[in-house]
Amino acid sequence: MNILLLGSGGREHALAWKIAASPLVERLYCAPGNAGIARECELVALDAADHAAVIAFCQAKKIELVVVGPEAPLCAGIVDDLAAAGIKAFGPSKIAAQLEGSKGFTKDLCKANDIPTAAYARFDAAAPAKAYVRAESAPIVVKADGLAAGKGVVVATSVAEAEAAIDMMFAGGLGEAGAEVVVEEFLQGEEASFFALCDGETAIPLASAQDHKRAFDGDEGPNTGGMGAYSPAPVMTPELTQRTMDEIVLPTVRAMKAMGAPYKGVLYAGLMITADGPKLIEYNVRFGDPECQVLMLRLMSDLVPALLACSDGMLKNFDLRWYPDAALTVVMAAKGYPGNYAKGTAIEGLDAAGAVEGVEIFHAGTKAEGGRILADGGRVLDVSALGKTVGEAQTRAYAAVDRIRWSEGFCRRDIGFRAVERERKV
Ligand code: AMP
Repeated sequence: MNILLLGSGGREHALAWKIAASPLVERLYCAPGNAGIARECELVALDAADHAAVIAFCQAKKIELVVVGPEAPLCAGIVDDLAAAGIKAFGPSKIAAQLEGSKGFTKDLCKANDIPTAAYARFDAAAPAKAYVRAESAPIVVKADGLAAGKGVVVATSVAEAEAAIDMMFAGGLGEAGAEVVVEEFLQGEEASFFALCDGETAIPLASAQDHKRAFDGDEGPNTGGMGAYSPAPVMTPELTQRTMDEIVLPTVRAMKAMGAPYKGVLYAGLMITADGPKLIEYNVRFGDPECQVLMLRLMSDLVPALLACSDGMLKNFDLRWYPDAALTVVMAAKGYPGNYAKGTAIEGLDAAGAVEGVEIFHAGTKAEGGRILADGGRVLDVSALGKTVGEAQTRAYAAVDRIRWSEGFCRRDIGFRAVERERKV
């Protein structure tokens, strides 16, 4: 079959790499892609926001499945528009994508269905939100309701900080995303990412994975899109996986179906593992980046039938198989990220790095120019490796990082440290 993948990051490179390996695939296209994705398939200059252009391309190229990488086109309803044109897609409908597109929607759904999450209140004006903050006191968390590219959450350690965040959001600091605000209880525990494939009726969990959100070693510094990830994540024990499915994911799938908006696609639950068990921090309606990279490395089964089963409502008896090896990815970012950074700097040594045993390099933000690979984003490369343990995968990934010559880039040197420490204790 012919497949079109939408997106341009490391997540999409990993998906392209896995989809291209499927014997079911005749032609794979990616729009807009990057220099790494160009090694897996043909790139197309399509804007995912232009649904009519995407549909016209699908018709011209006889595309039988569109795989949507990022959240923005999902929240904009691209899956609905493709369906109306008779084109199958992997990902939720516009209404179902509200699980990511509106924090208030998700909180209300949790409340109505007894899904464990932080206590909260929704506001459409600053004064009552601030009164709530003063009554609850700090630490407390202030969230813009809509999509804010990872900038919509302020974990406030004082009432003043929470009030400032409320003022910033209602003053339009995050645009439309901050027109409504959720204020919620601060949860304590270890965070975990949880992924499940859903077909509207049922859900199956993927292997566990964990990312590092902070820019610097020791989980310090500003929040980023993710500076590295590993799988399996020892924090997600089989018991916690079962509880997360029973208490969070499956009730959500049932509630969405009852609402007439069945959830199809991958559901990514950001969890806090509290003393009372797993609680939902937030939902995302697509694969995590960089968690997707380590999941694709560990997935033994063909990905394409799984994506089709989600779209066709056929997941019920589906079985995904995983390699027992661990996987780890180190994000190399442009210096300055997540703040301002330069584009267009040259990266060398990628072939030598890719030759390290077990290593696969996914591109997150690159372009090819005159035979050279140039940085073209904040997060630029995902240097990834398989190994018998997280520790071995970590050693291999950093051996590859050390062969890459890019003085304008940086990475964390401690990705996977919690899992490696746990392995040492065993
Ligand atoms: P989100 O975008 O909702 O995942 O929030 C970004 C980050 O803020 C999360 O990964 C957590 O580290 C933190 N966070 C969000 N909500 C809470 C909460 N209720 N309690 C503690 N930390 C939170």
